[in-house]
Amino acid sequence: TDAHLSAIEAARVLNAFILETPDQARAMAREADAKIEKGDGGPLAGIPLGIKDLFATRGVRTTACSKILGNFVPTYESTVTSQLWRDGAVMLGKLNNDEFAMGSSNETSCFGPVGNPWRRDGSNTTLVPGGSSGGSASAVAALLCMGATATDTGGSIRQPAAFTATVGIKPTYGRCSRWGIVAFASSLDQAGPIARSVRDAAMLLRSMAGHDPKDTTSVDIAVPDYEAAIGKSVKGMKIGIPREYRLDGMPAEIEKLWEAGAAWLKSAGAELVEVSLPHTKYALPAYYIVAPAEASSNLARYDGVRYGLREQGRNITELYENTRAEGFGAEVKRRVMIGTYVLSAGYYDAYYLRAQKVRTLIKKDFEDCFAKGVDAILTPATPSAAFGIGEKGGADPVEMYLNDIFTVTVNMAGLPGIAVPAGKDAQGLPLGLQLIGRPFDEETLFSLGEVIE
Ligand code: GLN
Repeated sequence: TDAHLSAIEAARVLNAFILETPDQARAMAREADAKIEKGDGGPLAGIPLGIKDLFATRGVRTTACSKILGNFVPTYESTVTSQLWRDGAVMLGKLNNDEFAMGSSNETSCFGPVGNPWRRDGSNTTLVPGGSSGGSASAVAALLCMGATATDTGGSIRQPAAFTATVGIKPTYGRCSRWGIVAFASSLDQAGPIARSVRDAAMLLRSMAGHDPKDTTSVDIAVPDYEAAIGKSVKGMKIGIPREYRLDGMPAEIEKLWEAGAAWLKSAGAELVEVSLPHTKYALPAYYIVAPAEASSNLARYDGVRYGLREQGRNITELYENTRAEGFGAEVKRRVMIGTYVLSAGYYDAYYLRAQKVRTLIKKDFEDCFAKGVDAILTPATPSAAFGIGEKGGADPVEMYLNDIFTVTVNMAGLPGIAVPAGKDAQGLPLGLQLIGRPFDEETLFSLGEVIE
């Protein structure tokens, strides 16, 4: 814990941690030591972790990296983090993320952007670590913590993992409790770990997962020993390669990486089959209706009355307006406006309802594929390697949204997906591959992920 606290101090330029909790960390570490001595340390005893600032931590400021929650100190602990503490883990502090987890580069945070510890060969340009869990990915890649919590609504665990050569898994929707996690789009949000290896990710997920009566969408099925899946033979497994993910203009190095990944799985004894997910091209537009719709509803609670920032006004309406105008950043306002629009009377059927129907078709594409005996699907994790801060999405937000092209389908279908480091581009930057699994079959992803890693 002390070594990690010093590393965090020395790497403040990355802006990965927005709040360091050294006193709490040392107290937790001492407690873990005492328990280890007594022989009941727990599976994560003394393991120092960083916590994405979307997870409510009791007595420790939790902001979702939004000015509107700038002074919010929860009186409760999220279920996921309380399970990590139950198992002996140590909290080093809170990690930067895109405001309310809306973004793909960690540039929408009210605390400013996060730096990726990776650089292009021969260049000093600071690159983004991806988002929204940019602080988590950067901190793990820079060895500032042994693992981190993250959340994924459309790719926010997997894309930053791919940009930083770390491992990130978004479990099946319902696997981890969402209780105590700041909501973005409730039907898509899932928590998961970002870790240094597939094995670490397996250990962390086992602790984070599990049924919670406080989240009615959390599912009551046993959490397997994910670590046991590592090293298990993948012989005879059927791996689907979806035709529709072969995009026009996809960089040759991404295509090469994808082929290499398939070849590694094949030499480990898996069988490769081409599959079709015909509704893939509608996933991104449908996601950018469903996610903002749910966000606009979830964010209605930030009204300046109940908690967080409060601006003054001559009457209650003005108080709301001034608080939200001052408290939300540009990307969040854009989402709230899109969401309000697609949910409004007269437009609901044309946009929101249509997007929900598309979502059902996307889910069915995967079901059809798994019904044919496919065990998992292999795709690239991202359409490119990490880009520079300020390089994308300035004039055109859609340019940034395109980052999620391979990841959003998985959230729309509620499936588990893992991103595993698989190679580098011509400039020496990490690239990742994604494996998508059957519902609640994270184990297969860990087995296959370890082959690629
Ligand atoms: N980049 C996507 C978005 O901005 C996904 C974010 C996420 O998964 N939290 O909505």
